[in-house]
Amino acid sequence: MGRVAVVTGAASGMGLAIAQRLAGRGDRVALVDLDGEGAERAAAELGADVAMGAAVDVSDRGAVDAALASVRERFGPIEIMVTSAGFDRFDAFTDITVESWERMLAVNLTGTFHCVQAAVPDMLAAKWGRIVTISSSSAQSGAARMAHYVASKGGVIALTKALALELAPNGITVNTIPPGFILTPMARRAEERGDLPSLEAVAARTPVRRAGTADDIAAACAFLCSDEAGYITGQALNVNGGWYL
Ligand code: NAD
Repeated sequence: MGRVAVVTGAASGMGLAIAQRLAGRGDRVALVDLDGEGAERAAAELGADVAMGAAVDVSDRGAVDAALASVRERFGPIEIMVTSAGFDRFDAFTDITVESWERMLAVNLTGTFHCVQAAVPDMLAAKWGRIVTISSSSAQSGAARMAHYVASKGGVIALTKALALELAPNGITVNTIPPGFILTPMARRAEERGDLPSLEAVAARTPVRRAGTADDIAAACAFLCSDEAGYITGQALNVNGGWYL
């Protein structure tokens, strides 16, 4: 029998690919997303015996707690938490409103805190756990017109490192994947708006000469969530096609 995993942002992009990969290796997976219909649809495709979907805004602690309670009821204690839910915005620094700054932090950073904190008691009781946060290479390199996003993802990297040290004695590893340019619906939308360069331009500037895929992220994430990765914690596993950061 595999592990019990929760993947946030699992209706689309990397979260979806991660949920599919974990289910494919035998884990039971809860797909959590603001887009509840998308999460339910993806879970139904994986099969009701191994997957369930839940409509959750990760910035809402009550909703996170309720969703995790239903996961425990259906599949048992949570052993793996992957936080991929997030959104981007591109604004000149002087145009960032207080509301948009706060929403960015509430979803990308505090949402990560809520999901991890809500799941950790199960892992402490089991003396085993795997936590993977999805941050961003932009928090390592900086990125113009993304101060709010970059600050939120920098917080995710710092949170990951702090938790890794705190939870390590309990058999729980905590790592982050800061993706480079990954071809997902989020990146497509940014490209279409002209907020990101074309896929071809990104590929030409990337050492491996292509954009990343959601499966590139899912493969790295599944490794970090495996038994074999038990001696790896507090790390940023850069899946970015060779960018030096
Ligand atoms: P995506 O838009 O395809 O998927 C993100 C998912 O998160 C969506 O299904 C969305 O509904 C969900 N979501 C957004 N806000 C939510 C909320 N408040 N509560 C619950 N779910 C919410 O994007 P993606 O490219 O797969 O992004 C996954 C993660 O990777 C994000 O955190 C993103 O910031 C990060 N990232 C993406 C790239 C890239 O190039 N695509 C690069 C670096 C980091």
